[in-house]
Amino acid sequence: MTKKELIFLGPPACGKGTQTNKLAEYLNFPHVDTGSLLRAEIKNETEAGKEAKAYIDKGQLVPVELVTRIIKNRLSQDDCKNGYILDGFPRSVEQAEQLEKMNAEIDNGIDTKFIAVYFDIDTSILVERIVNRRSCPVCGEIYNLEFKPPKVEGRCDKDGAELTQRKDDTREVAQSRFDTYNKETAPLIDYYTKKGVLKSINANGTIDEVWERLLEVIS
Ligand code: AMP
Repeated sequence: MTKKELIFLGPPACGKGTQTNKLAEYLNFPHVDTGSLLRAEIKNETEAGKEAKAYIDKGQLVPVELVTRIIKNRLSQDDCKNGYILDGFPRSVEQAEQLEKMNAEIDNGIDTKFIAVYFDIDTSILVERIVNRRSCPVCGEIYNLEFKPPKVEGRCDKDGAELTQRKDDTREVAQSRFDTYNKETAPLIDYYTKKGVLKSINANGTIDEVWERLLEVIS
């Protein structure tokens, strides 16, 4: 069986997280989301969390060694052996090179298929999306107060937990996250195009519309 390695690229709040949650369930692959892994480290007050917090609060990338260590641990776990979906990593060419290195070590010659899905979206709508975003701290479900509100105000539809807002989902930090994206992450579009593994999807539209486009490119 071919192991499927999917990575999702796109600016903050482009809908990657929502679609990854759906796809992980559909393919029965783990959804490995660096942002959530880092937020868990902060919540648990680990050394890694303490180091990462200052960068996250400013909308900057946390140091590559730290994030690479966390990702390598996660991708080495047994549930990733048939495939995984990576959301939020790599976020720079340096991280992409690190990913290739760790995949080579973990996969050890087995048959793999690597796809980088790029969420191509009109960025002018994204700051509003960010400030309206809420999520469930228990299951990770993502809501939008305007476009995808929960059925009961402030509560997750799936498990009833109280929804929370990310600390970095403010207008000011969002701007800095876009700047970081343009400088560090956007060059990956070219990087993966040259390697012949990039699939672009139009990420404007409803969750269902984007989902249909996603299924077409990952099969
Ligand atoms: P996200 O949840 O993907 O929006 O990530 C939230 C924040 O976590 C980012 O603004 C970064 O500060 C940090 N972060 C997430 N993934 C990475 C990564 N691959 N490399 C460095 N920092 C990251």
